[in-house]
Amino acid sequence: MTRRIIPVTDVRSLPPEPGQAAGTVRAPSGAVFDALARPLRDLRISVTDRCNFRCVYCMPRAVFDKDYPFLPHAALLSLEEIERLARLFVAHGVTKIRLTGGEPLLRKNIEFLIERLAALRTPEGQALDITLTTNGSLLARKARALRDAGLTRVTVSLDALDDALFRRMNDADFAVADVLDGIAAAHAVGLAPIKVNMVVKRGTNDGEIVPLARHFRGTGVTLRFIEYMDVGTSNGWNMAEVLPSAEVVARLAEHWPLVPLEPHNAAETAQRWGYADGAGEIGAISSVTRAFCGDCTRARLSTEGKLYLCLFASVGYDLRALLRNGATDTAISGAIAQVWEGRADRYSQLRGSAQAPGSAEERRIEMSYIGG
Ligand code: SAM
Ligand code: SF4
Ligand code: SF4
Repeated sequence: MTRRIIPVTDVRSLPPEPGQAAGTVRAPSGAVFDALARPLRDLRISVTDRCNFRCVYCMPRAVFDKDYPFLPHAALLSLEEIERLARLFVAHGVTKIRLTGGEPLLRKNIEFLIERLAALRTPEGQALDITLTTNGSLLARKARALRDAGLTRVTVSLDALDDALFRRMNDADFAVADVLDGIAAAHAVGLAPIKVNMVVKRGTNDGEIVPLARHFRGTGVTLRFIEYMDVGTSNGWNMAEVLPSAEVVARLAEHWPLVPLEPHNAAETAQRWGYADGAGEIGAISSVTRAFCGDCTRARLSTEGKLYLCLFASVGYDLRALLRNGATDTAISGAIAQVWEGRADRYSQLRGSAQAPGSAEERRIEMSYIGG
């Protein structure tokens, strides 16, 4: 029997229209800060909960099988609804939008959405940084259209260079060559800088750290190593399979001397290291061993329009209900501000401590639903 593991019922209601109830009115736009003084800067939008891969750490086939109840089309935010919400988020300080999923390139007319997002401007009149995280399988055929629509750059996930291992990890028989072709196509059309994300599972693909680094060294592509995270409830996560980033960096340093680089900005998730010989850089995303919640400026919009304040949140705020009940921009904008101002999430900092929120079952939303 298929389990529905996404706690879609755990949805918090939003404040009424400004003016309807005393104390609920918030500025309709303008920068907002959460309870820990973190501004709202990044919006990650999940455009589909479906995927053509079944990565063992994200959508294991035993759970995400042919009977899995993916969202029906009517439940998804339309592209116009996404654009409208994005515009309201931008008015609150968002400067960067990442499209994700599921596999975002499976969403029909994604180019249309990118075009609309690319036309948005910050209150200061700046264009947004619009990017997308993809498994790369459809990138070779879509790269040009995505660039033409206004996508600025792209992040591609790739967990192994060894084809047999990669096929086992994506569990959908996709070849490494498909993804490498996608990366080459992105490079050719100027979707740069390209980042490649490798999720490292100790005992599964840690033998691929050095081969992948060797492959991308000197190409201008930044390879980033992500610690395997305890997202969701379906991947059977355990700490023994986490390879700390410090160990990844130490293994690389045995082959190529590395020098620490300054972060581009405080909210950057990756620690940067440069090859001492000038052959480019790598990134280490240490979500488990070195939490970066203190600078987390990311909001997440799920495929069906729920606003989540943390990758590990158990509660989403139902913006789709507002959209479909005829709420004005002012009301939705006020609701976004109110929700953000109440945010105190910092799951990674609290992981394993008595203060960590909720039990595993109630707290974890699947990565493929909330977006990576
Ligand atoms: N399908 C796209 C892809 O794979 O790039 C976008 C969605 S995916 C959920 C976004 C990112 O999350 C990917 O880079 C993926 O490797 C990463 N991810 C998924 N599950 C993870 C886990 N348990 N720990 C760490 N990263 C994970
Ligand atoms: Fe799909 Fe991305 Fe999850 Fe892999 S990590 S199953 S490609 S959503
Ligand atoms: Fe941000 Fe939550 Fe991740 Fe901390 S655990 S960095 S608050 S998403």
